[in-house]
Formats: sequence, structure tokens, C-alpha cells
Amino acid sequence: MKTDLDDTLYPSSTGIDKSIKKNIQLFLIHKCGFSESQALTLRVELFKTYGSTLAGLRALGHDITAEEYHSFVHGRLPYDVIKPDPQLRNLLRSINQRKIIFTNSDRIHALTVLDRLGIKDCFEQIICFETMNPNLPNATRPDQFPVLLKPSPDAFKIALHAANVDPRRTLFLDDSIRNVAAGKEMGLHTVLVGKTVKSEGADYAVECVNSVPQVVPEIWANQMDGDDGTMRRTKSELEAVLATAAVGA
Ligand SMILES: [Mg+2]
Repeated sequence: MKTDLDDTLYPSSTGIDKSIKKNIQLFLIHKCGFSESQALTLRVELFKTYGSTLAGLRALGHDITAEEYHSFVHGRLPYDVIKPDPQLRNLLRSINQRKIIFTNSDRIHALTVLDRLGIKDCFEQIICFETMNPNLPNATRPDQFPVLLKPSPDAFKIALHAANVDPRRTLFLDDSIRNVAAGKEMGLHTVLVGKTVKSEGADYAVECVNSVPQVVPEIWANQMDGDDGTMRRTKSELEAVLATAAVGA
């Protein structure tokens, strides 16, 4: 199982996403000198075109390091709104398959959120911004290495390689429609989180990550199979037994 983190393992109703967007706009105003109205438009446009504001700024030649961007955007988030989720912890602990975080966020943010949720020890690996962009600190020009993030196919390739997983035997969870579509293109089994209706490339949709057992019971099928064989896997689609359960962040 490979899973996204933000707005996937905790709901967008926490308001963290809004705070991140606000901080990005403040970064554009205070660190890059854009006006307030330019900042809003630019954040949306850079996200659409380059995958993230940081990726867009560097591609356009702004010499901004990932560290200064992340410490500004994530460094003063109201993390106390993220509460421990014992139900999610029990759910994750009941999954025998490997569990990996796959997030565009930086490692410090990922660790902070996982710690707040009380699920840090449930994951064997965190694939994050630094994993996808190992050469960035060595760049001599901001546009030397393009910032790689989901939904770029190259970001998925790096993640699959880093985790050493077979996409056909991996469940991928994410709240982003475009990440889910990209994950499907890579051959992953996909769960769109936070929505009730499936988007393009989504095999399943759940409003809350805690509903995954109702929607994808196959994850637990092999461990629930009794000696009498009464429990049967229903979907060959899930390649019978998944090796990895990825929860997107
Ligand atoms: Mg997300």
C-alpha cells in the first residue's frame, strides 16, 4: 500500500490545506516581491503548469531553495489541529502488506503530520520531496534540475523503484484526481480519497480513509480466510493478494 499524506490520512476539514495555500501566497509576496493579486493567480497557474509553486518558481529562474520554501510554507502551520487517529492506527496495523508514504511534501512535514496522527511507526518508508529530488541541493542554477513531483510519471518511477514494488500488486491512495489518474497510468490499483464519486483512473473512491475496509475488503482477504474457506476473494483485479498498500499523503 502506497499512500499520500495530506488530505488523505487526515481530512481537508482540518484547514491545513488552506493554511498551506495562504503561506504559499505570503511567500510569493514577501520573498518574491509579487503583489497580493498576482500571488493568488500565480500560485494557481504554477501548480497547474509545473506541479507546484516551488517547481514553477525554480523553472522560471527564481533562485529559491527547497529548504527556505518548505520552512516558510510548512514551518508555521497550526499542526495542533491534527489530532491522533486511533481508528486509522488500528486500521493500518491490521494490514499485513507493506505500507509506504508517498508525498510531495518534505520529510520534516511528513514526519510532523505522522507524529500528530500517532501513526509514524505504521509505515516502513517515506517517499517524499527529497526522495524525488536528490540533486536539487547541488544545482548551480535554479532551472538546472526540474523539480519532480506527483503526478509526473518520472516521480512515480522513482517512487516505485525506491520502494521496490510491483505496481500491479500495489494499492495507491491519494486525494488528488490528477495523481490518481497518473497512478493508474503506471499500473497501480487506485483509491481516490475524500470524494464519493470515482474520477478517471480511480478503481475506488472513499470519503474517508477509514472507510477503505468497506470498499477494498480484499486487502484483508488472505488474512481473514478461514480454514473452511468460507471467505473468498471477490476481485481478481486486485491480483489476489497485494504486496504493498500505499497511502498517499
Ligand atoms: Mg494530498
